[in-house]
This record gives sequence, C-alpha cells and structure tokens, in this order.
Amino acid sequence: MTAPAAQLAPLSRLPASVDAVIVGAGFAGLYMLLRLRRMNMSAVVIEAGDGVGGTWYWNRYPGARCDIESLEYQYGFDDDLARDWKWTERYAAQPEILRYIQFVADRYELRDGIQFETRVTSATFDEDAKRWTVTTNRGETVSARFCIMATGCLSSARVPEFKGLDSFTGEWYHTGAWPHEGVDFTGKRVGVIGTGSSAIQSIPHIARQAAHLTVFQRTANFSIPAHNGPVDPEREKEMSAQYSVFRARARASQGGVVPRMVPVRSALEATPEERQQEYQQRWEYGGFAIGSTYNDLAINKESNDTAAEFVRSKIREIVKDPETAEVLCPRDYPFATKRLCIDIDYFETYNRPNVSLVDVKGSPIEEITRHGVRVGDKEYEFDAIVFATGFDAMTGALSNIDIRGRDGLALTEKWEHGPRTYLGLQVAGFPNLFTITGPGSPSVLSNMIVSIEQHVDWISDCLGYLREHELQTIEATVEAEDAWVDHVNQVANFTLYPLANSWYIGANVPGKPRVFMPYIGGVGVYGARCAEVAAADYEGFTLGGM
Ligand code: FAD
Ligand code: NAP
Repeated sequence: MTAPAAQLAPLSRLPASVDAVIVGAGFAGLYMLLRLRRMNMSAVVIEAGDGVGGTWYWNRYPGARCDIESLEYQYGFDDDLARDWKWTERYAAQPEILRYIQFVADRYELRDGIQFETRVTSATFDEDAKRWTVTTNRGETVSARFCIMATGCLSSARVPEFKGLDSFTGEWYHTGAWPHEGVDFTGKRVGVIGTGSSAIQSIPHIARQAAHLTVFQRTANFSIPAHNGPVDPEREKEMSAQYSVFRARARASQGGVVPRMVPVRSALEATPEERQQEYQQRWEYGGFAIGSTYNDLAINKESNDTAAEFVRSKIREIVKDPETAEVLCPRDYPFATKRLCIDIDYFETYNRPNVSLVDVKGSPIEEITRHGVRVGDKEYEFDAIVFATGFDAMTGALSNIDIRGRDGLALTEKWEHGPRTYLGLQVAGFPNLFTITGPGSPSVLSNMIVSIEQHVDWISDCLGYLREHELQTIEATVEAEDAWVDHVNQVANFTLYPLANSWYIGANVPGKPRVFMPYIGGVGVYGARCAEVAAADYEGFTLGGM
C-alpha cells in the first residue's frame, strides 16, 4: 500500500535534528505536535499518507462513521475549539470527521510541521549520543532526542493470505485503504469478506448499489442500532458551553465517555420482564448503552447470556428468513467481548433480494480465483471483492518499523511472545521512545480521543519534567514493566473478554502471540495511576542525567 523506497525521492524538508520525531498525523500525532510546540520544543511529524487524519484519512469506505457519539469523539483540550465546531450528526460520518481534523490542523497551524507521503522505516537508539536516528523510505534521516509513536492501533490494514489473490481479474479493495475517489458498485456483483464493524457499516451501502452482494461471514457479531440522526441541540448546547467539565468526567470514567445510564445491579437481580424492558430501552436508545445495562455483563457469563439472547431475539425479529437469521445470530463468544458493532440497517439488509450470506465458519474460503471466491467446491463470481478483514491491531504499525533500542535489541524480538510495556507508554530497553495508546493502555477499549489526549498530556508533562531537571533520558524499568504486564493480564482474566477470539488478543492474525493487549481496568483508574507515577517523580522509570 506504500510505494517502495526505490521509487521515492527525498523531499529534503526534514530537519537534520529535532527534539522529537512524531510518527503519524492522526488525532494523536497532531495533538502531540501542538503540545510540543507550545513547550518550545522542536518537533517534526512524519506521515505516510498525503494528508492529516489517520484512521479518517484511510478508512473512506461507504458508511464509515464513528461509533462513539460525535460530541464525545472530539478533542477536549480547548473549550473554544469545542464551541466553534458544530457536528451535524449524532454519529459523524468519515468525511465530516476528516474535515474536523483538517480544521484543527489549520486552526493551530500544524501542517508546516508535518512531512507527508513519507514512511518511517526504522528508528535506532544511539546509546552514546542518547538520541534516536529515524530513517524514512525516502532515504532521509532525522536525529531526535525523543521518538514518539503516534502510529495508531488500527492503522495496519490486513488482507489475509488467501491463495490466488494475484490471479483475481476483478477489482479488490480493503476498507482500511479505500480509494479517495470512491468506488461505484452500480450494477456489479460484489463479495464482502468479513462481518466486523467495517463490514457492518459498509454492507448496507454496497447492497444499495450492487447488482448482487454476497457476504462471507466467519463469525457472527453482536450489532446494535445507532439510531443516528441530527445532534441533539440541547445536549450540544450544554456540552459546548463548558466542554472541559464534560471531558473531565469522561476522563474519570470507565470507557472515556460521560457516564449516563450507570448500571446499579446484576442482570441476575432483575426479573426476566425487567431485563426485557431494560435491554429494550437501551436498544431503542442505540449505541453502546446496552453494554452497561447491568454491572456484571463483562464478568458473569450467566448475566452475559441474558444480553446475548436479547440481541439474538432482535436479529430473529428483523431478519425475515429464519435460516439466515440463525446464521447471523452470534454464539461463538460472550456478548460485547469483541468490540460491539454499531450499525444503521445492517440486519435489515439481509431482507433485500440482492443480498446473500455465506457461512464460512465450518468451510473456510479456500482461495481467491480468477473470477471470485471459492468455498469448498463452490465458486462465487464477482466483479469486485471488498476485504473488510481488519487490522494487525495495536502492534502491527510498530512492528512494521525496525525499532532498535539498547544493544541493538529489536522491538519485534522483545515482543516475540506478545507486547510488554509499562503503562502502554514505554518499553524497557527503549529509552526516550513513547507509544501513544500503546498496548497495555485502555486505548481501543475506550473513547480513543480521551485516551490519546491523556497520553499526549502525560508525555508532554514528562518531557517538561526532564527539561526542568536537566535530564536526558527516561526509560521504563524491567521490574515496573513486568508488574504492569502482570496487572494487565490479571484484570483481563477477571473478565469474560479472553473467551473471545478477538483482535484484542491477536487472534485475527495467524501466528500472533495470544496476549490480551489493551488495559481493561478503565480510563479513570488508569489515568489516576499514570498521574501517581508522575507525581512520584516517575516511579518505575529510570531517569538519566546529562
Ligand atoms: P491513526 O488515526 O491510526 O493515525 C496513525 C497514523 O500514523 C496514520 O495516518 C498512519 O498513516 C501513520 N503511520 C503509521 N505508521 C507509519 C510509519 N511507519 N510512517 C509514517 N506514518 C505512519 N475509535 C473511537 O474511539 N471511536 C470511534 O468511533 C472509532 N471509529 C473507528 C472507525 C474505524 C473505521 C477505525 C479503523 C477505527 C476507529 N476508531 C474509533 C479507532 C481510531 O483508530 C482512533 O479513534 C483514532 O482515530 C486513532 O488516532 P491515532 O492518531 O492514534 O492513530
Ligand atoms: P475486524 O473487527 O477485525 O473484522 C474483520 C472481519 O473479517 C471479521 O469478521 C473476521 O472474521 C473477518 N475475517 C478475517 N479474516 C478472514 C478470513 N480469512 N476468512 C473469513 N473472514 C475473515 O475488523 P474491522 O471490521 O475493520 O474493525 C476493526 C476495529 O476498528 C473495530 O473493532 C473497531 O474498533 C474499529 N472500527 C470502528 C468502526 C466504527 O463503528 N466506528 C468501524 C470500523 C472499525 P473473524 O471474526 O472470524 O475473525
């Protein structure tokens, strides 16, 4: 998806030496640049794409939109920004989110600090100079005191290694690297592989255009209606009047959103009639609310089963063909232990005469042929195939860069058996390297903008502290890292999450170590721990002098 190094000429715009190199110009990289500039530190952002936006730059498939409500899925560092930007929909679509990020880049004059169309290929720590040498696919190098990875948790799009893909004579696309000019499926026979969030958002749109759409489903998923519509003007007014107050509440919460409909009891304390009513109320409200109907859905299988059965009953109500409905009913994992999908007319789409569903759970896709997809001895012919097959999540973008710390140790080697970090922020053996929303932090289990801001603020404060105390390096200790990794695992194992073959656990990438990567203890608890560590003069880190 990127041009090979040999075809790219240096742009000669990169400074030879800076305080910090930031990799990635999504929400994380932009805010990081702003914070460092405000501290009068020199910094440059290197970005593979030709524009800002990250996720919202790459994922331009039809139907792409946020699943956290727009009023929450925005920066919270500047009340004036929140007041000046008006969202049109409860769940903003990709073009609007991209316009927002572009607006932010312009408002804070960030673009001249970003080198686009450039991919970082390696980052090497020089122990004598105590500096990072960052190399790009244009053959340029930058020397930096700090190297900050804002490379994204879901930025390494993945097409499974299907035999025969090269032989396919039609067009094919990955949702995570969608053509900027869009794709017209009118009159075409289209196959979509996958039924995760990206598929669930795009399938209704593709179905409305295509002559025929065939969906290949390996795992049926829980999906909840978004009930999208215009932004609630009252809530908009209330929040934008004092955004920082709302953001502070989001930061103290479990998932990084202002808590509403807080659960107070176990599902098993409610009668079946009460449960039906309470699930129904949240189903009608839409979005993630249903996940917090009761306080034990994530930890008690019996309670969880009641939510799972409720969603299955809804699928049976919506999908007219009982056989198709049964195939669409999720049974392979507990409710909400993979990220819940939030949809607009997803299950309804299977009532269209031009849509068919192929269950590939028992009989996998064998190969991509010249004309389509072969499952068992049946070949499905297509003009276009859409791979909605997800990402090498959390570690993929980092593993794509040859990152070398002390003694030339490669990060991929250190993480051979799964990612190890202290607080998801740093890795022992890799001084002055930071990972924004790295594995071991709440990241993908939260409203990511809240988690991004918390990390950027923490890193900025940390760099300020080093400068103030005339220190050159900061590095996680092995002991602190080990203790944090144990804690992350313990908390995950207390929940039902490890029962799902999810990308949280690396299960979607053959051969990837099975380790629960994000921290499930909650944004509030985690933020408090990070603050305590900083207040204790960066407990668990070794700080090095001049
Ligand atoms: P990204 O936006 O992923 O940006 C990383 C950038 O780094 C990319 O532009 C990439 O090109 C660049 N990069 C990576 N490696 C290199 C390299 N080696 N050299 C140069 N550049 C590099 N989260 C939510 O909380 N709510 C949502 O509703 C939501 N919806 C989502 C919808 C989709 C379709 C996807 C895929 C994810 C969604 N997420 C959502 C998660 C989303 O990724 C984050 O919310 C957020 O946008 C991440 O921002 P980021 O800056 O950390 O990373
Ligand atoms: P995903 O959740 O990983 O889904 C990938 C899909 O492809 C799964 O259904 C998977 O099946 C299927 N698949 C993979 N390999 C396959 C194979 N060899 N044969 C058949 N099927 C195969 O990826 P995603 O949908 O892109 O979403 C990733 C994450 O991005 C989401 O969980 C969410 O955090 C974020 N996202 C959010 C939104 C939003 O609503 N705002 C939209 C898109 C993405 P299995 O389940 O069996 O592996």
